[in-house]
Amino acid sequence: MTTEKNGFRVIVAGGGIAGLAMSHALQLANIDHVVLEAYGDVRSHVGASIGLWPNGIRVLEQMGCWKQIKSHCAPMVDSYNRLPNGKAISTSRLADMIKARHGYDFVVLERQLVVASLYDNLPDKSRILVNKRVANVTETSDGVRVDTEDGTTYEGDIVVGCDGVNSTVRDFMWAVANKAIPGYISAQEKRSLATTYACLIGFAPDMPGMGCGDCHTVHNDGFSFLVITQPRRTFFFVFIKLPKVIHWPTRPRFTAEDAEAEAAKLSDLPVSDTVLFGELWRKRIRGQLIALEEVVFDHWHFGRIAILGDSAHKLTINLAFGGNSALESTAALVNGLNRELKAYPNRKMSQETISRIFQEYQELRKPRMKRVLNLAYQLTRLQAWDGWFMKFVQRRVIPWVGDERVADHFADLVKGGIKLDYVPLPNPPLGTVAWDDDSAKETIANSSIGKSSNLFLWALGLILSLNASYYLVSVLRSQYTLQSL
Ligand SMILES: Cc1cc2nc3c(=O)[nH]c(=O)nc-3n(C[C@H](O)[C@H](O)[C@H](O)COP(=O)(O)OP(=O)(O)OC[C@H]3O[C@@H](n4cnc5c(N)ncnc54)[C@H](O)[C@@H]3O)c2cc1C
Repeated sequence: MTTEKNGFRVIVAGGGIAGLAMSHALQLANIDHVVLEAYGDVRSHVGASIGLWPNGIRVLEQMGCWKQIKSHCAPMVDSYNRLPNGKAISTSRLADMIKARHGYDFVVLERQLVVASLYDNLPDKSRILVNKRVANVTETSDGVRVDTEDGTTYEGDIVVGCDGVNSTVRDFMWAVANKAIPGYISAQEKRSLATTYACLIGFAPDMPGMGCGDCHTVHNDGFSFLVITQPRRTFFFVFIKLPKVIHWPTRPRFTAEDAEAEAAKLSDLPVSDTVLFGELWRKRIRGQLIALEEVVFDHWHFGRIAILGDSAHKLTINLAFGGNSALESTAALVNGLNRELKAYPNRKMSQETISRIFQEYQELRKPRMKRVLNLAYQLTRLQAWDGWFMKFVQRRVIPWVGDERVADHFADLVKGGIKLDYVPLPNPPLGTVAWDDDSAKETIANSSIGKSSNLFLWALGLILSLNASYYLVSVLRSQYTLQSL
């Protein structure tokens, strides 16, 4: 690494996907930083699978990780929609449609392999410090001080909380903000972190009869199965609606016994024509019950503190967009820092400039994340037949809209992906849909794919927004109830 700019130093809390991506982006921009990870090894984290969309893959390619990640994945082939009895009602080639539109595949692999690839490909691994749980964040007159549980102190210009949905940095940010401006972070904003669904996640070895590279969604009233097959791995998810919505600061935590009890209830239910869920659970290599929180917070920064990744935006996992979004948020924030440090290499960055860069990051990312949250929200409820309206839309409307137009709807989201603007993306594969940030708007010409009628997209959008409005009204009503208590 060449001389770092300006003495500017970033303290990153958390060494998950967001924290490791931050280290890549900062190293590529030649910005001094340290990543403080609570656990002893960033690569050994438990977890299930992760799906990567072309927007996330572009950033991973810029970070030099895509080749290694791709080597772990078999192409995705068929996507089946199934009734509760396991019978397929439709089959689509969604992965092919995604590739046709963007040039890159949609891939699924163990989350751990993505984390390992991010770590393995870091030019300077000494930036990542393990067994460093952040315990305290203090703003000083011209910087930040971060104390870790082992008694060490780190100083820098800014701190970025990549410490997940239960972020400690966010707690400090809220406290600092409300001390400086009473009421700045409202009770409503804090409790907007809500859990409506839990998910039984895990993976088993490959199961005869379930294919390789296939995706099976089994709809049931109030819950759904999702099973994705890859070589030697059958990833499973059961999305289960909780009896009531749980709001922050209550954090739903489930024990191994809770997971066993839920799995036992579902044991004899089919996940395909030939396989029952109990078979997957019995053969599982890993399995646990987790909460699926949902939120896009209003405030992503205050003073010298910013939050990024799941600490700022947390989605249900049906859309497979949380990790991809963390990569985009990383690119958005470091693009801003790099631009400023390049323009003024010898000037100490003032609080005003930091606030402006943080605000630009939030303004760029928050509207997109609200859109992503809404789509993930809809997908979870559609797949789990959450009420008659969702069941009607999933059974009658989506088949009428058709696979190509559903793929267009996703493409409309993917093409707005944000990548690092200071790192080249050599020879990206072309698809039929141009990226919003590609000034040449280069695509594969003369194809009807990705150019379906706006009317269909409009109709699909309308249906989903109607339901989103219903959701918004319910949330507002619950907030009104809170206020009137
Ligand atoms: C089962 C499952 C499946 C998923 N599937 C997909 C998918 O298919 N596609 C997709 O894009 N996304 C998926 N996601 C979401 C994705 O995994 C997350 O959005 C992503 O991992 C968020 O990364 P993060 O770094 O922000 O947070 P995390 O991954 O939660 O990382 C936070 C890190 O901070 C550390 N930490 C916490 N507190 C402290 C502290 N006080 N001090 C220091 N370090 C701390 C933690 O140990 C951890 O390493 C899935 C999530 C789950 C749970």
